[in-house]
Amino acid sequence: MAEKKSTRRKAGAPTGRALAVLRESVTHLDGEILRLLAERRKLAVEIVGVKDATGVAVRDQGREETLLVELIQAGRELGLDAHVVTQVFHEVIADSLRQQQLVLQRRANDDGGEPEAVRVAFQGIAGAYSYLAARQHLADRADRLAFVECPTFAAAIESVEAGRADLAMLPIENTTSGGINEVYDLLLHTRLAIVGEVKLRVEHCLVAMSDVPLSSIRRIYSHPQAVAQCGTFLASLPGCKVEYYNDTAEAVAKVRDDGDPAQAAIASEQAAAMYGLAVLRKGIANQRENFTRFLVAARAPRAVDGRIPCKTSLVMATAQKPGALVEALLVFREAGINLTKLESRPILGNPWEEMFYLDFEGNVAEERVQRALDELTRSTRFLKVLGSYPSQDLPPTEPAAAKLARPRLAAVTERDAAAPEPPPSAPRAAEKKGYRLVSRDHKREDTVIEVKGVRLGGDALVVIAGPCAVESREQIMAAAQAVREHGGRLLRGGCFKPRSSPYSFQGLGWEGLELLAEAGRAYGLPIVTEVLSPADVEGVARVSDVLQIGARNMQNFPLLREVGRVPRPVLLKRGMMASLDELLQAAEYILAHGNHQVILCERGIRTFETATRNTLDLSAIPVLRARTHLPVFVDPSHAAGERALVPPMARGAKAVGAQGIMVEIHPDPAVALSDGPQALTFPMFADLMSELLASP
Ligand code: PEP
Ligand code: MN
Repeated sequence: MAEKKSTRRKAGAPTGRALAVLRESVTHLDGEILRLLAERRKLAVEIVGVKDATGVAVRDQGREETLLVELIQAGRELGLDAHVVTQVFHEVIADSLRQQQLVLQRRANDDGGEPEAVRVAFQGIAGAYSYLAARQHLADRADRLAFVECPTFAAAIESVEAGRADLAMLPIENTTSGGINEVYDLLLHTRLAIVGEVKLRVEHCLVAMSDVPLSSIRRIYSHPQAVAQCGTFLASLPGCKVEYYNDTAEAVAKVRDDGDPAQAAIASEQAAAMYGLAVLRKGIANQRENFTRFLVAARAPRAVDGRIPCKTSLVMATAQKPGALVEALLVFREAGINLTKLESRPILGNPWEEMFYLDFEGNVAEERVQRALDELTRSTRFLKVLGSYPSQDLPPTEPAAAKLARPRLAAVTERDAAAPEPPPSAPRAAEKKGYRLVSRDHKREDTVIEVKGVRLGGDALVVIAGPCAVESREQIMAAAQAVREHGGRLLRGGCFKPRSSPYSFQGLGWEGLELLAEAGRAYGLPIVTEVLSPADVEGVARVSDVLQIGARNMQNFPLLREVGRVPRPVLLKRGMMASLDELLQAAEYILAHGNHQVILCERGIRTFETATRNTLDLSAIPVLRARTHLPVFVDPSHAAGERALVPPMARGAKAVGAQGIMVEIHPDPAVALSDGPQALTFPMFADLMSELLASP
């Protein structure tokens, strides 16, 4: 210890210099990265010129995937994580796409020159979210933007209609608080056309004159929508009076003008900075992911280049006869047009009659869309197209896990990888066995459950991995990194542990769940955790993407009923003494209460055999695949109880038709607080994954 200290002292001055030199190198590299990004952007614009000539769609997700796979592989050789490479290049690719779309849009509307000055009308004052949305939408002409502040949405529309502004920026829906009715109602009557959409990430902060303690705040001002989105936080401040303001920026201006340190406003960090206020708390919305979608309205429609993904908004009233709405919606299905939004609003003056607002993927300039709209007039009594505009739904391309498989480290014997087809005829009379909704008789095609873009029960094998229990931030972060790096799609981790002995580690509870969620977010992995008690279901469902029901709880009927009432997929493990019909009956409980998203998981049963922790019942997989449409997963870890047996059991599971595998991994199994002996080390997991994902 003493020696270490003296070394540090001696090295003091030279270390300072070395640090300065290193920092200079980093700054130099950052400059290079910027220069390269700018160069890449120029090339993207040149490429669109070529695409323009040949009529190729702007977005080519196949090419994006190939590019990402190559980059990830090249990154690995340079010692970079797949996750980091993916994140960086998702941004880079998105920027290229935006640039290319901008070029095509200008050409399609004959304004190929310098971007023109634009006057944007919006409800509120500078710093309001609509103002921020306008800046985001028109970032390419940031220096030529003028703003027309309006007291109401109607006034913003009117100033465009009257020619005092060129565009109106109108919030239409928020992912937490829902549709903005007033704007929907105005759209019905306006002569303006919708020419764009903007999705703005809204991050509410509590802002005040200076950095005072929360307890000294007495009054909070904001827009009613912002107040609604921060209800949980506000409930924690019972001593505060909340007052509504026209927009969040006005609330900030009010606090600044009054200069009272006991006042605060809910607004964006940018608004706080614009008005010179201090941020007391960030991220105070009930939902961490909070977005507002805006529509951009102009006097005339704008053409959308056919190679740009396009959306159209319309409003309609259906004919007054039974089934009219279904008939109208069938038109879209027949035409193969994807609806992205359906909202209904009362027709003012006609009680119990509704106007429907629809968004769909397509461009009014397309013939198939024209034909569909024409057809639609047969089942509507009012139909108005509000406009076609470039879609902002540009989900990043996720390279298929199979394409990212690393070369195997260890050799395995050749085997027949093809999973046998499930037996053709499923046994009838499922109802006699006490289940109906889960049976193949009830639904022939496989159920596919989508969790944040990951398809469970689809064609690709899905691997869920993570530690038995969440033990610390470091542990779960390391595990998440390994899961992501090797192609796992979901992160598991127990927070409430069902331990056979009351003296064993019982899990970190809610604190563990927060850590699991943080790791999932950091590595872009949906999370799975077990819920033990009916009273916890709602709270766990708020955070976890999938709820696990453990083997010991497979027939805990109050718990099954409770998870049947929440809109979260459930991973239902087979009880260690349960027959397959009992497993299906347990699943039926969940479906019967409304939740149709159940994944079955074979995890080993009790037999006379004691050589393994449990006996993995591989025959369960083809039997279940024949009897039910639900996805069937296998957990070889709890079946085997010993890490060396996990890879062969996982291989077997895949061979007999499991649609997914769940395995336990740990950065250092020797010190694991639960199920250490069965946890795979990261190198073992890497090997298993490259093998499982290498062949289809
Ligand atoms: C687990 O997945 O950590 C677990 C406790 O599993 P099971 O319920 O199958 O024992
Ligand atoms: Mn376990």
